[in-house]
Amino acid sequence: MTRKIAILGATGSIGSSTLDLVERLPDRFEVVAVTAASNVESLAVIARRTKAKLAVIADKSRLGVLEELLAETGCQAAAGEQALNEAASGDADLVIAAIVGCAGLKPVMAAVEAGKTVALANKEALVTAGDLMIEAATGSGATILPVDSEHNAIFQCLAGNRREDVSRIILTASGGPFRVTPTNLGDVSPEQAVAHPNWSMGAKISVDSATLMNKGLELIEAHYLFGLPSERIDIVIHPQSTVHSLVEFVDGSVLAQLGPPDMRIPIAYALAWPERLATPAERLDLAALGRLDFEAPDLARFPALRIAREAMEAGGAAPVVLNAANEIAVDSFLKGRIRFPEIAETVERALGDSGFTAPRSIGDVLEIDRTTRARVEASMREVCP
Ligand code: NDP
Repeated sequence: MTRKIAILGATGSIGSSTLDLVERLPDRFEVVAVTAASNVESLAVIARRTKAKLAVIADKSRLGVLEELLAETGCQAAAGEQALNEAASGDADLVIAAIVGCAGLKPVMAAVEAGKTVALANKEALVTAGDLMIEAATGSGATILPVDSEHNAIFQCLAGNRREDVSRIILTASGGPFRVTPTNLGDVSPEQAVAHPNWSMGAKISVDSATLMNKGLELIEAHYLFGLPSERIDIVIHPQSTVHSLVEFVDGSVLAQLGPPDMRIPIAYALAWPERLATPAERLDLAALGRLDFEAPDLARFPALRIAREAMEAGGAAPVVLNAANEIAVDSFLKGRIRFPEIAETVERALGDSGFTAPRSIGDVLEIDRTTRARVEASMREVCP
């Protein structure tokens, strides 16, 4: 049977990898809706190519152009927040949630509340609104399939096992470009920080990998996704990024998922779940790899991981503040306004100053996010006008 899919964030990296897979299999997948923020030309190309029924651009001022580009295609052009929510909750069976940032929260919630199967790449949805998303999914019967490679690995290892037989999960982290050198992280440049050793990603997420904040955000994601407390989620540094994560069971068995660092593999698992799809991804050559290394993370060198764990344990508004403060701090680092160690310092300070009550709706989450960004930006201007 053909699976109807909506791709939220179709013009991005995850969106492109998804299209690369589904366009090879027109008998299995029908793309019904595609969305983007402002990249109207690429969105129209994708909508034409996939024969989508609905194309939504978040930026309303671009609607006229989208309508022109889609004239006589039979594809409806729409714009704005409400239309994004409709793309997420419309006639798709499977929603690929690949919008970046908190802009993805409302559409993801719309898909979850509509009881969809959601292939979730958007980290912020669980990091900032984990309790709300899981509660809504439980109420509507929605299924959340993790796309992030570590969570997807854990999800794969859990298949066929009882949740009560899990003793802990172990997330792997590459350790980023500064795992060992330089000794002094005070002078590293944005160019050095974005040069990730294994994965090719955007600047923000690459800096997050360098500070290990990315692993901190994934820790929070895992906490909500798999319903496990802090003491049952461990992190291990694994520089080769071949073991994507592991699950330890009560009998002492440990299952791991391995593969080349290619996001099409976890995306394919989410697309075909509970089946599998053949993908064009490279095959793993263990003999060529030769060795797999593991070590404990250095929390003194990478305090972001400790700070993220503390925010997760605090719960409530803390993960929202962590995420928002980190985005502003990373942006300031990329613009040369603050030094690398100040990213974690900024986030820790923001958490100390926050004093918010726990969010009870996506609106509350977005308000805490907005206020935190404004506060952190103002504090940046004081330090570095
Ligand atoms: P990209 O920046 O490549 O793409 C983001 C997509 O979201 C684009 O289609 C963009 O449209 C759209 N978008 C951006 N802002 C808005 C907005 N305000 N409203 C509506 N749509 C918007 O991101 P990635 O594909 O790399 O990542 C997507 C998500 O997946 C992120 O949360 C990321 O953390 C997560 N992720 C990514 C991985 C990766 O390897 N790339 C791995 C694991 C998780 P436009 O083109 O018009 O700007």
